[in-house]
Formats: sequence, structure tokens, C-alpha cells
Amino acid sequence: MDELLTRTRTAVWHPCTQMKQLDTAPPLPVARGEGPWLIGSDGRRYLDAVSSWWVNLFGHCNPRINAALVDQLGKIEHVMLAGATHEPVVELSERLARLTGLGHAFYGSDGASATEIALKMSAHYWRNTGKAEKNGFLSLQNAYHGETVGALSVTDIPLFKSTYAPLLRHTAQVPTPDARRAEPGESAEAFALRCADALEAHLDEYAATTAAFIVEPLVQGAAGMAMYHPVYLERARELCDRYAVHLIADEIAVGFGRTGSLFACEQAGIRPDFICLSKAITGGYLPLSAVFTTDAVYAAFYGDDTARGFLHSHSYTGNPLACRAALAVLDIFEQDRVIAANRVKAEAFTGLLDKVAAHKRVRHFRHLGMIWAFDVADARPGFSARFHHAALAQGVFLRPIGHTVYVMPPYVTTVDEVRTLADALCACLDRPDV
Ligand SMILES: *Cc1c(COP(=O)(O)O)cnc(C)c1O
Repeated sequence: MDELLTRTRTAVWHPCTQMKQLDTAPPLPVARGEGPWLIGSDGRRYLDAVSSWWVNLFGHCNPRINAALVDQLGKIEHVMLAGATHEPVVELSERLARLTGLGHAFYGSDGASATEIALKMSAHYWRNTGKAEKNGFLSLQNAYHGETVGALSVTDIPLFKSTYAPLLRHTAQVPTPDARRAEPGESAEAFALRCADALEAHLDEYAATTAAFIVEPLVQGAAGMAMYHPVYLERARELCDRYAVHLIADEIAVGFGRTGSLFACEQAGIRPDFICLSKAITGGYLPLSAVFTTDAVYAAFYGDDTARGFLHSHSYTGNPLACRAALAVLDIFEQDRVIAANRVKAEAFTGLLDKVAAHKRVRHFRHLGMIWAFDVADARPGFSARFHHAALAQGVFLRPIGHTVYVMPPYVTTVDEVRTLADALCACLDRPDV
């Protein structure tokens, strides 16, 4: 095991990591996975309480997803999607179109590339419709939409963004409706409406040069699971319609049931102009992302002129294996009535996490669907890493964001496992050195 740690430090540049810190805080060597559990090369079991960066839904080594992939491996592993097509990509596009109310699926390989696709499509739409000056983008304060250069331009997290500012295109940010920022006595709804007024003021001034407003519906994940009232999305939809600005829903983190509905936008009763999907789309198996849009957007690209078309591409666009994993995920949602089952589960999980919410160090305990989060009042610098290691010692794999601890378990996690998790969280909070 020590040998693997030496080799990983030498050969692998880990994501979102200052490599020097690995000397004192080594990564967990994982040998296998089983349901919501990671099995370390030391033979110990760790509950994957963050679904491996929010991608896993139905556990590791899920027999049904495995079987779909084995079947697909015997047919075709990959074929390029320019000049060819295949059953898995067509079926997935049809089924997700029915579920999102949008269509014309365009595929990428990860979340950031979905953001890039939506931004490019939106600006290109305005160009094709004679309004090339509408090419600016608007996002929320503390937004996260990925880290490639275009996606980072609409991201608003200084730690990830500041260093690369000279490489990025200027974009505008409007106030986040993050309910923690409400004035004392102000409801989350009233605060969201106040933030929507700020959005209106911005659009009133800049709509003529704005292509799209991109948002993470209901939960700003990387900002620290910041949750907000759905009325904000309702108002954003009205305002984007009134000012002729596209609304891009980045459901990369919240899609596929995470907030309690299959897609978060459903809770606001709105349909965006673009929806970006990734992360859980394959149940955490393979990298895949997709952007769905409206017939109106699609129609603006359709014609005899090649350059009017959307000429974007990625080598692995619509990879058949990834699409089969995604189809197996949709089958599980249907066959197991996952959304309804999760509602019951989430209530039980919330009850078990009550004692965490009541802990004296905990502030702003919040919950939506299959996400629970809280802030730690007296967190000192380095809290996140210390809490991560304290949780590992308790058999739980967590990765706090700043002073926010969150739990985003795979949907197959049981009540008994969450009882253990609640005990582990309290044990970590009880440690004065964490
Ligand atoms: C993770 C995430 C992305 C980026 O996805 P990657 O696959 O990591 O590139 C974009 N938007 C949101 C909301 C995310 O949570």
C-alpha cells in the first residue's frame, strides 16, 4: 500500500490537490467497491458518503449496470458519431428528451464540455438569427460550471478562477439567492425574490449584449451546497423570456434525482432553453455529458450553409458504452421507482441526521432530496482536510468544502448505514482537534 502511495505521488497529478499536501495527507488507496462502500487496499471499508464526487447513484459494481456494459462490450465499444450512429445513443437521446421536455441531444464527455457546448450554442444561435452582439454570459455569484477556459469564465469561485483570470472572457455575475444570506427574519422565498429583482435590473441594462444566463438549479454545489428557493428559477424563466436571453440549466450536479425530483427545474415548474447533464448520467460509471435544447434553437442552425451548423465535436461523442450505462441507469429509475423510494428514504435519513443538526458546532443545517449539508461554526484553516481524515478513521469517505460538510450518499445507501454515518459525523464534530 505504501508503495502505491509513492507511485501515485510520482506518476499521477491529482485533481483539485496541492500535491505537496499529499505527503502528510495521502489519498485513500481503493482496491474495490461494493454498493455504497469503498474497500481499501488495507481491507477496511469506507462509506462513499459523497458518491465519488456526486456521480454514483446505485452503488459501485452495480450488477445491473455491469450486465448492460458486458452486453454492450460484445457488440460495439465505440464508433465515431460523425458519419455513423448506433442504437444506444439514439435510445438515450429519445428517452432523455421525453424526460427533460427538450431534445436534439448533443454529447460531450464531461460536465465542463457540456457547459462549453451550451455557451457556444447559445451565442451561435444569436449570431445565426442576426444578433451577433448578443454574446455575453451571465451567472450567479459563487457559481460553478466547470474548469475549462469557457466554463471557468462563468464560474465564480475565486480559488479556482483568480489565477487564470487573464485567460478568461469577462462575464457578469448577479447576487446568489443562497438562503443563508437572507436577512434575519427574511424567508428564503422573500430573499430569492429580492435577488430576482437584481437579475431583472441587470437584464434591463444588458439584455442586448447577453446571450444566456447559466444557473445551477436549486443547489450551488461547489459553493458549499448553497440551497435556494425555487421561486428564483420561476422568476428567472419569466425574465429571460421577457428580455430574450437564454436560460441554461446546469443540472450536472443536481440532475438524476439528487434534489428529490428527476431534474431540479421540475420543482420550479420551468423548462430551460438548454439543460446540461453529466456526473450521475451513467450512474458514476463512465464519463458522458449531454446538452438538450429547444426546437427553436435547433431550427436556427438547420440549413444549407455548413458554417450555420454546430461544428463542435469531441472524439468520444456519444460513446456506446457510456450510453448503455446511462440507459441502464434510466431502467433502474423506472423499475425501482427510485424518485418515490428516495422520498421515503430521505425522510428516514433526515431523522437519523437530527442529532448532527443539533450538534453545538453546526450551523445552517440544510437538506434537499438526497443532499444534506451544514456549516461548522468554529472551523479553523485546514478544517476540510482534518475532517476528511477524521471521517476516514470512522470508516466514512467525505470531502468537506471549506467549512461546509455535506453528505450526498448513493441512493442504495441503507438506513443502517446512515445511522453509522450520523454517529461518525458526531464523533468527528466532537473532536476538538478537527
Ligand atoms: C461538476 C460540475 C461541473 C463540471 O463537470 P466536470 O465533469 O467536473 O467537468 C459543471 N457544473 C456543475 C454544476 C458541476 O457540479
